[in-house]
Amino acid sequence: MSSRTHKISVLKGDGIGPEVVDATLKVLDAVQKVENIRLEYVMGEAGFNCIEKYGTNLPPQTIELIRKTEACLKGPMTTPEEPGSPRSVAVTLRSIFDLYANVRPARTLPNVPSLKPGIDMIIVRENTEGLYSGKEFEVTPGVGVAMRIITKAASERVAKFALDLAMKRRKRLTFVHKGNILKITDGIFKGAVHEVANSYPQVELEDLHIDAATMQLIKRPESFDVMVTTNLFGDILSDEAAQLVGGLGVAAGANIGDDFGMFEPVHGSAPKYQGQNRVNPVATIESTRLMLEYLGERKAAERIRVATEKVLEEGKAVTYDLGGKAKTSEMGAAIAEKVRSEVRAAPALRA
Ligand code: NAD
Repeated sequence: MSSRTHKISVLKGDGIGPEVVDATLKVLDAVQKVENIRLEYVMGEAGFNCIEKYGTNLPPQTIELIRKTEACLKGPMTTPEEPGSPRSVAVTLRSIFDLYANVRPARTLPNVPSLKPGIDMIIVRENTEGLYSGKEFEVTPGVGVAMRIITKAASERVAKFALDLAMKRRKRLTFVHKGNILKITDGIFKGAVHEVANSYPQVELEDLHIDAATMQLIKRPESFDVMVTTNLFGDILSDEAAQLVGGLGVAAGANIGDDFGMFEPVHGSAPKYQGQNRVNPVATIESTRLMLEYLGERKAAERIRVATEKVLEEGKAVTYDLGGKAKTSEMGAAIAEKVRSEVRAAPALRA
């Protein structure tokens, strides 16, 4: 039987990026063999190290290369903070490819400390506007202004994405905003959510202010199903949600648009761990699970989920952040091995 082929662009990034991506590619190699799919990788350069070499962190040839692929696996990259320095690669890619929904799941994993049992939620963050529009000015020395752009169109499409997701899950949508203070911008966001939700009468809606949401996330995290919010609030809430279920080492992310998907861990380049082969590869491995789901390869995605959970459950080949001593490469190899050995357990996979 001939295998299905998907062309994937891979940006290893910098800092701990190459380490977590290499460990992940071992898992993808294993899943390709057992599921009879072929992932054709096209490697691209991007990130901090490109700035000196090309004068930009995202060279045009990399953008062209990504355009020729179905999806992109992106490692973390360092973003310089000086005013005038290049914008984050993730933010630029989200805007070039119009990846408007940032999907960040947080679920309780076996043998991983979780604030409460049974957490299983997904944060959908609007990804293209809000305070990440990059429009900041120093009006006069010492007085800065950042533009928080919120449009009805962008709010509606992310609301629709979140509602469609809720329909496939427990049919609960919490929308988070600060409409009592940001009456115009968050008024537009709120209005859009309500309008789109009219077509989804089965979905139960919950309205939360951002400050209350940060608290409720700690108080009753197990009650949330899908949460939708604007760009900055979503970024902050998803780091908080990640910490509820084991930290940034296990937090995966997907950036989805109508024609393209980019998949990356929530964490950054953690420069202090660079080159030590110490950090947790699960966030990146889980991101490729989301990528395989996006590509329609559900069985392959499920196999990665089962293999990762087995390794976590056994607790032998886990990295320092989960209380273990395994290296990044060892944890990746252990998950790859489970992907292979789970062939015998294939009937147990969910359809
Ligand atoms: P970070 O996520 O890189 O690291 C914060 C801390 O989280 C680390 O010191 C470490 O203790 C822990 N951590 C992160 N990843 C881990 C892993 N895989 N396993 C175990 N522990 C892990 O955040 P930061 O220090 O704020 O940012 C560093 C750089 O990364 C900055 O330049 C920032 O702009 C960039 N960044 C990039 C992205 C991206 O590429 N999408 C996302 C966030 C931050």
